[in-house]
Amino acid sequence: MKKVIFTDLDGTLLDRFSYSYDQALEAINLLHEKKIPIVFCSNKTRVEQEAYREELNIRDPFIVENGGAIFIPQDYFPFPFNHHKTTKDYLVIELGISSQKVREVLKRIEKEVGCHIKGFGDTNVEEIAQETGLNLRFAALAKQRQYDETFKIEATPEKIELALDKIEKAGLTYTYGGRYYNAMGGGDKGKATKILIELYRRKLGKIETIGIGDNQNDIPMLEVVDIPVLVQKPDHSWEEIGLPNVYKVKGIGPEGWSRAIQKLIES
Ligand SMILES: [Mg+2]
Repeated sequence: MKKVIFTDLDGTLLDRFSYSYDQALEAINLLHEKKIPIVFCSNKTRVEQEAYREELNIRDPFIVENGGAIFIPQDYFPFPFNHHKTTKDYLVIELGISSQKVREVLKRIEKEVGCHIKGFGDTNVEEIAQETGLNLRFAALAKQRQYDETFKIEATPEKIELALDKIEKAGLTYTYGGRYYNAMGGGDKGKATKILIELYRRKLGKIETIGIGDNQNDIPMLEVVDIPVLVQKPDHSWEEIGLPNVYKVKGIGPEGWSRAIQKLIES
């Protein structure tokens, strides 16, 4: 049966601190050899993901900004399907509202609550680089958000809770990745993954889908694949996600990624 891989990036295919994928290179080459698609499903922006796709020679569709949109290379699926936008390189399925709209809601809530919500939109590239450990090039790419906003809330715990409550009441969803919050309207990793699974089924027939993640924000993606996989976090623990069939692989980030691929693909 043809397999398709859906994978998170930060803390999964990429090391949580160095953003290196070196430990996963052999497994990526194995997937290339077997012509198995690798679909990024990450909080990262289009331009960030394009940089990694280029470096790793990956040409498959990809899901940006936590499910805000799906970018599908032109002619990848040999049949017409619903999409919202066509660019020079891609057909784009948009699930989330614009970052601009998300930021407007956050600004209003900031005023109402009397806290400081500091988004990537208000932060300069140097500061993002310093806080995230990204180099300046990637920090600039991370700032180019189209469908969500990454932010911190500077306030007392009570006000943070109030702000998060108001974000949900405004119809947005948020995730917390350990360092930043992320708010969006409309999309999530699961919805986007499901759409691509359907398109792959139309193209390839019966397929087996594998999803690999490390964190809470991967749950929607892991819920809709056949084989959900969790890699270890830097402290060697696995995220508690309450999925009964999850395969907890040994190895932090890309090391676990590699082990999971070797095991699931070779067999
Ligand atoms: Mg992650």
